Amino acid sequence: MDIFLTNTLGKTKQRFTPITPGKVSIYTCGPTVYHYAHIGNLRSFVFADLLKRMFIANNYKVEHVMNITDVGHLTSDADDGEDKLEKGARREGKTVWEVAQYYTDHFMEDLSRLNIMLPDHMPKATDHIAEMISIIKNLEEKGYTYIAEGNVYFDTQKYAEYADFAGLKLNEEDARSRVDEDEHKKSPFDFVLWFTRYKYSSHEMEWDSPWGRGFPGWHIECSAMSTKYLGDHFDIHTGGIDHIPVHHTNEIAQSTCAFGHKWVNYWMHNNFLVLGEDEKISKSKDNFLRLQTLMDKGISGLDYRYFLLGAHYRKPQTFSFEGLEAAKTSLRKLVQKYKDVSVRDGRNEDEFDIFYTKFLEAMNDDLNTPQALAVFWETVQDTNIDVGTKRSLFDAYDAVLGIGLKEQAERKEEIPDDVLALKSERDKARVLKNWAESDRLRDEIVSKGFEVLDSKDGTEIRKA
Ligand code: AMP
Ligand code: ZN
Repeated sequence: MDIFLTNTLGKTKQRFTPITPGKVSIYTCGPTVYHYAHIGNLRSFVFADLLKRMFIANNYKVEHVMNITDVGHLTSDADDGEDKLEKGARREGKTVWEVAQYYTDHFMEDLSRLNIMLPDHMPKATDHIAEMISIIKNLEEKGYTYIAEGNVYFDTQKYAEYADFAGLKLNEEDARSRVDEDEHKKSPFDFVLWFTRYKYSSHEMEWDSPWGRGFPGWHIECSAMSTKYLGDHFDIHTGGIDHIPVHHTNEIAQSTCAFGHKWVNYWMHNNFLVLGEDEKISKSKDNFLRLQTLMDKGISGLDYRYFLLGAHYRKPQTFSFEGLEAAKTSLRKLVQKYKDVSVRDGRNEDEFDIFYTKFLEAMNDDLNTPQALAVFWETVQDTNIDVGTKRSLFDAYDAVLGIGLKEQAERKEEIPDDVLALKSERDKARVLKNWAESDRLRDEIVSKGFEVLDSKDGTEIRKA
């Protein structure tokens, strides 16, 4: 079955053709580990995971790389830009290395909570400084760089197609909108490949290089790590839409010039999770939403994942707790439906194919997850499908959507003692009709990651 993907390169939906038949290589711009990932960042990683699972469902062998940005990148190229990791370290009284490790561990936990398949490689930027230096040297030898005040710059005027990918207009307006003002740049679009001069003399992360001790610029790591693991021509590169005009434009410029040929065939970008009125979630604001924030309110990683499936990845998605509650309720229903079809013996192949083809067509059509979910619910509601076929279909859908139905259906409820104690206190409060206390105890149980279901037969506590 054909696969169609929207390619930012060319801005159209295109039929996917792999470089090597039956194989697909994917690179995903990973997290910058100077803080927790916010739930918007996590949207981009769930998107990449869905892409990968879709290819697996189409019998592709997938090679997936996601980097960990643990080098402290300056918030801009200008000398007065702040280094994100150093900022994190100052905020927390830790070394930059401790900060990076701490947030990497949390990120890995988030991936697991979201049922994201681990990429085949998760290289750290700090382990690939030599590869970055080698590409910069290559660019220097080919005449694409210049040195000003100790820093090595990429000369964008030497690459005629620089503006094409993002449709930039290299006029005054676009130039002015570039965040930093660096008087050493020949053009405002030029960017630093290697820093030896910067604001903080106490910078902890430094390496020797042919240009002096310092650290890499913002973009070079992705060119270095992707090609190390996937080769210098690979299939798909993913990231959020914010990366199109700067990060990915610069990655393309430096890689194409260094390798002397086309670097990546398909560029896919997820749109943003917004807080309403198009307000962006941002790590630099101190109170951002992370997965743990949702979990404290009784929403699991899988509930959040189900919520994300409800919007197409190319559209902005508005976050709301009502939306999350609705997703959680729908997922509970699916888990119940899954439990109802526990018989696995035999399936009607023709019937299976009819439904699964519809489902896969939706996923192969540029990851149309809302449509795939519609097929899922259609299957749930169809009373003519026999139980064995339904069960097979549910398993096959779940393998692509990754909403953990089997795991949730089979999960043994282990309620810890402190939660059981709260429940029994609450039972007492309810007998005494002390509703305020009962509500308070419910909130406390929920804050521990459980849900409270009251019915005429009593109260049931379940893991949220
Ligand atoms: P960062 O850790 O800041 O490098 O971001 C990791 C990924 O999250 C990048 O691909 C960003 O483009 C993406 N991203 C950032 N904010 C959002 C958002 N609000 N919604 C969706 N993706 C986002
Ligand atoms: Zn990147």
